[in-house]
Amino acid sequence: MQRVSFDGRAIAPSKIVCVARNYVAHIHELGNEVPSDMPVFMKPNSAISRELRMPRGRCRYETEICLLIENGGIAGVGVGLDLTLVDVQRGLKERGLPWERAKAYDGAATFSKFVLAPETLDELRLTLHIGDELRQDGGVELMIYKPAEILADLSESFTLEDGDIVMTGTPQGVGDLVAGELYVARLHDGNAVMVEQQWTAG
Ligand code: ZN
Repeated sequence: MQRVSFDGRAIAPSKIVCVARNYVAHIHELGNEVPSDMPVFMKPNSAISRELRMPRGRCRYETEICLLIENGGIAGVGVGLDLTLVDVQRGLKERGLPWERAKAYDGAATFSKFVLAPETLDELRLTLHIGDELRQDGGVELMIYKPAEILADLSESFTLEDGDIVMTGTPQGVGDLVAGELYVARLHDGNAVMVEQQWTAG
């Protein structure tokens, strides 16, 4: 089992539930429509990697605020990358087939450590720098579905087990992974940096 770190403990999530299209500006940058209901997909435990691996073929990074679930609630917060094999996904979508080969492959998700969730999540925000350049910047304020709404909506379909992770969608600024580049993701609560994670794509 793959593990993530939460408040000093090693946790093995059974699944990662991902919200797609949760930031309007990102929906427009990919040329998609704003959905009338919340689109979700999953990644299995085996998709988690500590390293940021370069797969074969074009791969898009999406930086996301991540929620770690315990006792049915949001116990921890962190930041992670949802990785997509762009050309594989396009081919599958065109044929109306499921996306797992593009979104759930080994290495398709990587996370920072998780820390205890603050009392309110309203001021959570993420940034992604590639090298020195700020590429993604957005947070709860810009989400179509806020964390509490996401959990309420998911509970109609899925039981979230202790340790499961919810990825809450990505703000605008996604792009292709480049080998050797330094990716620095931060989770902010207001003006404070809660978590920082660096990866070199390789
Ligand atoms: Zn995503």
